This record gives sequence, C-alpha cells and structure tokens, in this order.
Amino acid sequence: MQVGKMQKRIDKIKIELQLIGEMRPGSLNKQYTKCGRQGCRCQDPENPKRHGPYNQLSYVHHGKSTTQFIQKPQLSAVKRQLTNYKKFRALTTEWVDLALDLAKEKLKIEREAREKK
Ligand SMILES: [Zn+2]
Repeated sequence: MQVGKMQKRIDKIKIELQLIGEMRPGSLNKQYTKCGRQGCRCQDPENPKRHGPYNQLSYVHHGKSTTQFIQKPQLSAVKRQLTNYKKFRALTTEWVDLALDLAKEKLKIEREAREKK
C-alpha cells in the first residue's frame, strides 16, 4: 500500500474508534450447575438434571481471569459490548499493522532519496 493510502486508512480508523460505544472483553458461555439441596433433581444418581442454562461471562484482564453470571435482562447489552470490544481490537490491530508498514515504507523512501544524491 502507498504511504498516502496507509495514512488515510489510519485517519479513518481513528474516526471509527471514536464511534465505538460501550465495550468489554470476554466471551459468553452457557453453564449448568448442581445445587446443594438434598433430593434435588440435579442430584439424581440415575438421571441428574442440572440447573440452568446460566449465562456466564469469562474474561482475562491484567492477567487475572474472571467469570460472572449475566442475568437475562442484561444479556443483549453485554453481547453488544462484546461485539464492540472485538471491533475495537480489530481496529487497533489494523492500526499497528499499518503503523509498522508505514514506518518501514518511510525509511525506504528516505534511503532511496539519500542514494539519489
Ligand atoms: Zn439442584
């Protein structure tokens, strides 16, 4: 890609980043659990029926992994936040890729200009 095109794309990424709404990292999983109540259907030795599904959110932040249950009314908002985070990561990764290419390309152009003298 040309230097001008790379710079234009970076400018566009900056604008797209500003438009990202609420976000959070993580992934959602459905969880089934056993309770402690004696004689509950989840304890049945023959045909145990666990409780659930519960929506569990897991993420790692500062090297620490966390899981939390998400109540149904919050589920769609959380899904939106997860999608926004993915977009955020994709854009910043693309920015870094472009920044590295751009730096390389600029060094090449400078070198060529010096060699012409
Ligand atoms: Zn139970």
